Amino acid sequence: MSGTLELRGLTRVHAAGQPPALAGFTLDVPAGSCVAVLGPSGSGKSTVLRLTAGLDSPDGGSVLLDGRDLAGVPPERRGMAMVFQRPLLFPHLSVRDNVAFADRVRGVPRRQARERAEHHLELVALRGYGDRPARALSGGQEQRVALARALAAEPRVLLLDEPFSALDTTLREEMHDLLADLRVRLDPTVLLVTHDPAEADALADTVAVLDGGRLQQAGPMRELYAAPASLAVSRLLGGRTEVPGTVRDGVHSSVLGALAVPRPVPDGPGVLVVRPEAVRVTSPADPAADATGTVVRVRRRGLRALVAVEVPGPGGASVEAELATGEELPAGRTVGLVLPVADRAVVPPVDGTPSDAARSPISHG
Ligand code: ADP
Ligand code: MG
Repeated sequence: MSGTLELRGLTRVHAAGQPPALAGFTLDVPAGSCVAVLGPSGSGKSTVLRLTAGLDSPDGGSVLLDGRDLAGVPPERRGMAMVFQRPLLFPHLSVRDNVAFADRVRGVPRRQARERAEHHLELVALRGYGDRPARALSGGQEQRVALARALAAEPRVLLLDEPFSALDTTLREEMHDLLADLRVRLDPTVLLVTHDPAEADALADTVAVLDGGRLQQAGPMRELYAAPASLAVSRLLGGRTEVPGTVRDGVHSSVLGALAVPRPVPDGPGVLVVRPEAVRVTSPADPAADATGTVVRVRRRGLRALVAVEVPGPGGASVEAELATGEELPAGRTVGLVLPVADRAVVPPVDGTPSDAARSPISHG
């Protein structure tokens, strides 16, 4: 049976004087849902899972499972199972005995433990692999065994700490399909952490963005894309255009001119962000153009190209746009830019320079 997990104000400070690894983190994981915690490396994702699993103790806040506070409950009695980036199998044991291991430790008779192991191997599409030594498996198969082992514990909550990030793209997508399939068949409660927005999008009902140990925003992925709450969220989801300006009465004024914002924003300084795939590049003479600028950089992205357009003016602005498939533009060309109203968002400015984490290549995918 799947449990309901509630994290309430979880805080973890490793050393006095250091910023907290996690600060006041609150998140609901309803029974049967999959919630992803998305954040760059070092943002506190594993800390969330370790505190949830009881592998580490919070300095503040609590973990509740079906309304019960788990403070003081040891990891093995929390009804949770975790899968890590590394599968951590016993290489000398057979695949079946790896999956049956927890049952055997619990005192389940050998034969019954093996039958249950077979069942869970079937669930992860490894029927017939039971007799193989674990060391004879490929990386993707190892991770399936790790998942089978976690499922065999019949956890009320399944905790996944970047379990697919060491796999190549094809295997990773296979594992995404497998997890989606398991969700339909078993309806588990899943708390997943990942640094990959595409993975969070593919697997989770709700995504909670973590940066520097603090929750930035939680909601369905499309909501985070449409209306990021902060620069950290915008950057993590691949946003590159950031135009500082001032908001007054729902209009953002900057070097791009006066642009209406589709959602309510408080008056005052604000940074306009627009996703590259939303920006349309047109002729500078197009009356629909919101701004005019010069292409300064062209980068390939599969069949499409990503262009950076510099808009002149006080401070200037760099707008990134993804061209239509097959469309080409040389650097130096003057173009018009259309920023569709629905795709504009304004986020608060941040003091100082962005954190290294927010700027890391990983967070930009
Ligand atoms: P993530 O999983 O998002 O990469 P972590 O939760 O592992 O991040 O770590 C969050 C922050 O806490 C990092 O700055 C990390 O260096 C720090 N941290 C994690 N564990 C410890 C520890 N045992 N002692 C000191 N600092 C730690
Ligand atoms: Mg981690």
